[in-house]
Amino acid sequence: MARRHLLIGGGPGAIAAAEAIRGADGGAEIVVVGADAHGYYSRPGLAYFLAKELPQAGLAPFTPQDFARLNLTSLTERAVGIDPAGHRVTLEGGRELAYDRLLIATGSTAIPTRVPGAELDGVVKLDDLDDARDIIRRSGAAKGAVVVGGGITALEIVEGLRAHRVRVDYLMRQDRYWRNVLSESESRIVEQELRSEGVRVHHFTELARIIGRDGRVVAAETGDGTQIPCDLVAIAIGVRPCIELAKAAGLACGRGILVDQYLRSSAVDIFAAGDVAETRDPVTDKGTMEVLWHSAVLKGRTAGLNMATEPVHAYEKGVPLNITRLAGLKTTIIGTVGSGKDADLEGISRGDSQTWSELGEAVLVETKNGNARIRLALAGRTIVGAVVMGDQALSFPLQELIEARADVGGIAASLQAPEAKVAKLIDSFWHEWTARRA
Ligand SMILES: Cc1cc2nc3c(=O)[nH]c(=O)nc-3n(C[C@H](O)[C@H](O)[C@H](O)COP(=O)(O)OP(=O)(O)OC[C@H]3O[C@@H](n4cnc5c(N)ncnc54)[C@H](O)[C@@H]3O)c2cc1C
Repeated sequence: MARRHLLIGGGPGAIAAAEAIRGADGGAEIVVVGADAHGYYSRPGLAYFLAKELPQAGLAPFTPQDFARLNLTSLTERAVGIDPAGHRVTLEGGRELAYDRLLIATGSTAIPTRVPGAELDGVVKLDDLDDARDIIRRSGAAKGAVVVGGGITALEIVEGLRAHRVRVDYLMRQDRYWRNVLSESESRIVEQELRSEGVRVHHFTELARIIGRDGRVVAAETGDGTQIPCDLVAIAIGVRPCIELAKAAGLACGRGILVDQYLRSSAVDIFAAGDVAETRDPVTDKGTMEVLWHSAVLKGRTAGLNMATEPVHAYEKGVPLNITRLAGLKTTIIGTVGSGKDADLEGISRGDSQTWSELGEAVLVETKNGNARIRLALAGRTIVGAVVMGDQALSFPLQELIEARADVGGIAASLQAPEAKVAKLIDSFWHEWTARRA
């Protein structure tokens, strides 16, 4: 009899698992239960949708034909209970679905602020398409907004609001933007770009309370009692994995659902993938969270393969990578590039990997040409991380060199020399290295 795979979620973790299952077992039954009525779409793309650079239709990673090929049953509903012993899942409407193998890929959700006034109409977040549409709708009438938080999402909201001509005050608790990933000069470039777009950047400024009238936001009050009149307060202080279902079902959880190298949870026949899965780093032996699209795909693919066959395919975390845009500047972040904790975030932010801020004793090399920057983290004979801001010519070469742990010992000293032509050195090294490997 065909094996029934039930996948909870509808994002890249679940859909990549469905692709892997279908690839391995043409006869399997695949049922996807997803709570988002908009189905499968690109969440990283929401920033561009918000900034009016991409229509809603441009967010779809799949065509209807792609879905038809997967031959799956898709249910738009919320799963509310899992019975691991009985191999059953209960849906919000009361229906029960049996499974042979279950995947939990419920993603993560924005951490709400705890300040007074958080419940007022006009307090917004950016988790999904409905949130993006809500911000756009409100932007039509809004004059001013206060954005609170760190990481990529805060910046995406700031830029989206500016694209809709809303005045923006951006509050940061610390002295600069995204302190634990960017260098000081990278943070300053981002902030300078924001200021040139008319954003008022406030350092060392905390949101103390949100003031309302008739249930609607009218101002945000900062720690020193200053009141900033506004119609919107956007909160982007990090995300937390949606582990409630798993916890209630008795699955072992840390920050996420604890999984082994095969993405198996502590319960028989239940796997987890995507933002919600907490994997173990084989090198540090520490639990690691990643809130990255590509990582969700990789985890989903591995889990799906193991569900359809036998759990023999280990998840290979790879080097975390994000190619994003920070205040209009195309930026690639690879490997480990920063350290410490970002006081503007509780936990991890979207588009972020814990690995990025776990830099050990690496030597940092930074080179600039106007707003174009390259920063390398060198550990012994390898490059363990890089930030490429602006000109992206070296984004791909550095991804390859870092991923392959290429031995750059021969140019390590030259890279660290004063006035080193870092871009040139990397470019020629990469060409030679590629030719040697061919
Ligand atoms: C605004 C924004 C910007 C981002 N930027 C980047 C970026 O620049 N680069 C990058 O790599 N990543 C970025 N990300 C993160 C990336 O989108 C996520 O890492 C990825 O989508 C995670 O995939 P997932 O399948 O684990 O979960 P998700 O894509 O979150 O999907 C989970 C789905 O499960 C559904 N669900 C939850 N609970 C239930 C339930 N009980 N029953 C049924 N369905 C349920 C949810 O409705 C959701 O549709 C961004 C995300 C956002 C929101």
